[in-house]
Amino acid sequence: MYGLGIAKGMALTFRHLFRRRITVSYPEQKLIPDNPDEWRRLSKRFRGYDFTWYVDKCTGCGTCAKACPQGNIEIETHREGKRLVVDKFSIDIGRDMFCGLCVEACPYDAIYMGTGYECASYVRSKLVYTRDQFIEKEKRPSAYFHPELEHKAPEAAAEMPAPVTPNAKPPAEKPAETPVPAMAARS
Ligand code: SF4
Repeated sequence: MYGLGIAKGMALTFRHLFRRRITVSYPEQKLIPDNPDEWRRLSKRFRGYDFTWYVDKCTGCGTCAKACPQGNIEIETHREGKRLVVDKFSIDIGRDMFCGLCVEACPYDAIYMGTGYECASYVRSKLVYTRDQFIEKEKRPSAYFHPELEHKAPEAAAEMPAPVTPNAKPPAEKPAETPVPAMAARS
């Protein structure tokens, strides 16, 4: 029948008028999880413009650097007895494509994709995260390749700074530090 397709299409469009919106008006609104409800709207395996690295788990093996197709990860180590000490660990996120291969390759769960996504800079050199920056920066691991973190994501995300919105109230006091995620066997 002529026009039936249009009627069906419009009916579908009309139904969406009464569904909860899944988009936000960024940057005025942000899915930054100081509110766990907001966090639930994000994919738990969301890969941001960010990495989380744990110096205490890293053995300096260099597997992540070898796995990076862009050559974005630089590692320098020195030997102390039987172990390697990481002197330099840097990732150039300005060249990164966030494929996650380094995270998948790390045998010690020392590197995770991060959930931060506001890392823009006018200076390219500021897009190179250094070892010290990784140590100091807030740990915001994504559950990408680490499904065991999915139930922990809201707490981990709670460490993220409050969203910067016009007329926003001053940020609440920083909560106690979230422990480093335990190593868990992947299924
Ligand atoms: S693969 Fe993991 S343990 Fe090895 S150097 Fe990279 S982050 Fe460190």
